[in-house]
Amino acid sequence: MKPLKASFTALLCLFLLMPLPPSFAQFPPPPATATIAFDFRQFAPYAPDFVSPWTTLGYEIGSFHTNYAGFERVLRDYAARSERLRVFERGRTEEHRTLYTLVISAPKNLARLEAIKADAARLADPRQLSDEAAEPLIQNLPIIVWLAYSIHGNESAAFEAMLEVLYTLVASQHPTITELLDQTVVVINPCQNPDGHERFVTWYNAVGMGRPEPFAIEHREPWSIYGRLNHYLFDLNRDLVIASQIESQSAMQAFLEWHPQVCADHHGQTVNYFFPPAALPINPNLDRGQSDKWLEIFGRGNAAAFDRHGWQYYVRDVFDLFYPGYWDSWSSLNGATGMTYETDGGGWKGLNWRRDDESILTLRDGIARHFTASLATLQTAATHRVERLRDYRAFFVRSIAEGRQGPLQCVVFPPEGDAGRRQRLVEALLHQGVEIQMAKAPFTLKAVHDYFGGVQPTREFPAGTLMVTFDQPRGRMARALLEPDTRQDQAFIERQLEKARRNTKRGPNAPKEETEFYDITAWSLPLALDVPAYWAGSRPTVQTTPVTSVVPPMPQPPPPAKTAYVFGYTSDAEAKLALRLLQEGYRLATAVRPLRAGERTYPRGSFILRTERNPETLHTRLPLLASECGVEVQSINSAYTDTGITGVGSEGVYTLRPPRIAVIAQEGVSQTSYGALWFMLSRDIGLEFTPITVETFLDLRLSEFNVLILPDGSPGAYRRAFGKEGIERLKLWCREGGTLICFGGAAAFAAHKDVDLTSARLVGEEGEKDEKDSQSPMPSDKPGAASDEAAGAPETGSTPARYREPGRKKTTARESQKTVEPTADAATSPDAGLGKEPLPLPGAIFRAVVNREHFLTFSHEQAELPVLLTQRFFRPSKTGTNVLTIENPKPLSGFVWEGNTERFVRQTAPVIEEQIGSGHVVLFADDPHYRGIWHAQRRLFLNGLIFGPTITFSTGLR
Ligand SMILES: [Zn+2]
Repeated sequence: MKPLKASFTALLCLFLLMPLPPSFAQFPPPPATATIAFDFRQFAPYAPDFVSPWTTLGYEIGSFHTNYAGFERVLRDYAARSERLRVFERGRTEEHRTLYTLVISAPKNLARLEAIKADAARLADPRQLSDEAAEPLIQNLPIIVWLAYSIHGNESAAFEAMLEVLYTLVASQHPTITELLDQTVVVINPCQNPDGHERFVTWYNAVGMGRPEPFAIEHREPWSIYGRLNHYLFDLNRDLVIASQIESQSAMQAFLEWHPQVCADHHGQTVNYFFPPAALPINPNLDRGQSDKWLEIFGRGNAAAFDRHGWQYYVRDVFDLFYPGYWDSWSSLNGATGMTYETDGGGWKGLNWRRDDESILTLRDGIARHFTASLATLQTAATHRVERLRDYRAFFVRSIAEGRQGPLQCVVFPPEGDAGRRQRLVEALLHQGVEIQMAKAPFTLKAVHDYFGGVQPTREFPAGTLMVTFDQPRGRMARALLEPDTRQDQAFIERQLEKARRNTKRGPNAPKEETEFYDITAWSLPLALDVPAYWAGSRPTVQTTPVTSVVPPMPQPPPPAKTAYVFGYTSDAEAKLALRLLQEGYRLATAVRPLRAGERTYPRGSFILRTERNPETLHTRLPLLASECGVEVQSINSAYTDTGITGVGSEGVYTLRPPRIAVIAQEGVSQTSYGALWFMLSRDIGLEFTPITVETFLDLRLSEFNVLILPDGSPGAYRRAFGKEGIERLKLWCREGGTLICFGGAAAFAAHKDVDLTSARLVGEEGEKDEKDSQSPMPSDKPGAASDEAAGAPETGSTPARYREPGRKKTTARESQKTVEPTADAATSPDAGLGKEPLPLPGAIFRAVVNREHFLTFSHEQAELPVLLTQRFFRPSKTGTNVLTIENPKPLSGFVWEGNTERFVRQTAPVIEEQIGSGHVVLFADDPHYRGIWHAQRRLFLNGLIFGPTITFSTGLR
């Protein structure tokens, strides 16, 4: 199919039959196939036995979107015959697409590929290589360049450009290319997100006509397509902090195996092309001098290539290097020059896009620029090979030296708390290549800090304590993930505070200045996972063994029980076992008071399976499930209790109703919030749920589901979807015993005065003010910046701020407001806000006080939990239970607005439960599964599923 030609002909015929509309003269020009002159064959001659991808695929470059099978066809053809190409398979995506690593170099380099890999690994570990031995090695080693494409599957120009780069490197016999390959090993991650790519191209190829109008449907991906994200709707360019997704895990493993010195990650779309130098802030764990030097060199290399064509581009501006979960910052923290490249054409701009000056931008243009940047990067790398390799080694030399200095030299994890969470953290660090040691004997550390700000002069740790010291090659990466707080660039912070100060003087409807935070400012893994951890300015002196793998605990299976099986409740594993048993139809009960059974005492919320009420299969199924979940289960052979009031046969033991869970999934819901929930329930717990729309929910019998989850999303979209009658029906469903769980924007919906599912209200939103469709500061993660934009009113032309890449746009005080450029000072408006409402946070971590009388806090023995807050603070409920409250407004980690945040966050409630009839409304101020990184509120959420459908006033416990 040739969509461009066909569509235009069809359109033309249509117009010939119709009377001319008055605006005919302004009708946009016909779709173009090319608007910039660009010769993709500039590196001729090409080896005649290799045909271009476009010959194989049967269409011209940029005239159609290539699907994954098409790429694989081209790849197989090249792999079979090329002496320059090696193809490695490294696993499959959730949708069974193969993930590849392509290695391209001169045949003489490929012949000694293993030796090259080994030498690069020695450069990255100076403990294995002396300074004298390093220099001859560097002189002989090719530079290793990592080129990655289409991590956001809907940024389609990157994928097409990859095919063109592949062909050029495999087939060109031009001396520029052959000389380049003598000096370089090119490692290509051809498609970082095949599942998202495929969703997008299948959809676009089906509906796209090449219409350039920004309001044409082909520029508006439906909610369920959104190819930016992977199968589980994770943004893979945020995932590297925890690496929960298979695509991240396998790519990181390959990266750590190949040791690249340069990493270029090809995205789209910005208004004009972007390449580094990057914007502030830069992660302080990076070597600033080296980063600046090399970003400048590569930036100038690209600039020279672009200037030859007279192309537009920009540097710095918005793309920073602070959050370590991006490929540019992550690869930089691993010693490479990590760069994000953003092209302008393709993706949601489709085959053709009309800019606001009426000029046309094409997919082909976007491909041409990415192709040019890829090749320029390789040439810059080859030119600076020796110096770049030398600096690569220096990065690791300094990383080890820095690890022996400063106030933070080690983090230790004693065997306390949830063993599963600790295991998850160890797994995450091992994926990063971080070295972990286990103490063989008890040891003492001086001046020990916990992650809640406490300091002890000395503290003893038992044998079995895990530790990470930073005097190791991956010390900088380890520190970036484990430090309690990441220092911000002071000049950058001052600039943001100035903007905020000027904004407070402006009237409520006056345009505001945008702040420049791109992303969350807090992610410290011990806090996110709520793993007990301590840090110190010295390193332990104790014998250790390296930890190289994660061995899940293997509890003894319980022998057949006469009366009951019992398991305590202190960890995620037990919540998982409880939910799996309920799902399989076993009658599981809980004790709402501490339980005494088999001469042991169990905490409140512990679980009981009474044999007389369960089928015979329990005796065989339970040991299997318990071992899968890693839970120790006791067999009880008598209901008699020696002491205490609650035994397995007591009145205070309630049989739990299995949760039948529905989750709202539709326009207006944040895909990433839905996705993180989906991944957690399906993959971590193994629990079934049904995704539905609001409309469907309102049509169903009230008893169809007893748990309804509203992921983070636009509060206004939720209100519109439910409508007045729907909200009444929702309340009726709650009164009849339904448990409604709302995250972020959905919680704001529930707390809206016209919805009134809780007496809690948003701070700053009471009274006349109304939270319209304001979005979170992290747009791609939250109510789908993209989906809300897609659903919004069409605009006649593009406006840069609106069409920046959704995932990495700056935080704005109010997304809906227009922005202004900074001025020296603003005149004070008589109606100025003057800090009357809280400013949204770019993600900071606070300590919350745990209300331990509530069923949502079953399994929690600690008095405080870390909680991530962004833009919504809830005043406590007057009628319900404030399950978590903020009493200390000082953040544990991350940026807050001085003079604003502390004032508004104090005495707010990040988790609230409201009893309605015999049901519940549970509010989480923010997504409790944020990016799959955040685990600290996981069991509060799971308790809603386990206990919500059963526990009410009548059980004597709220
Ligand atoms: Zn992107």
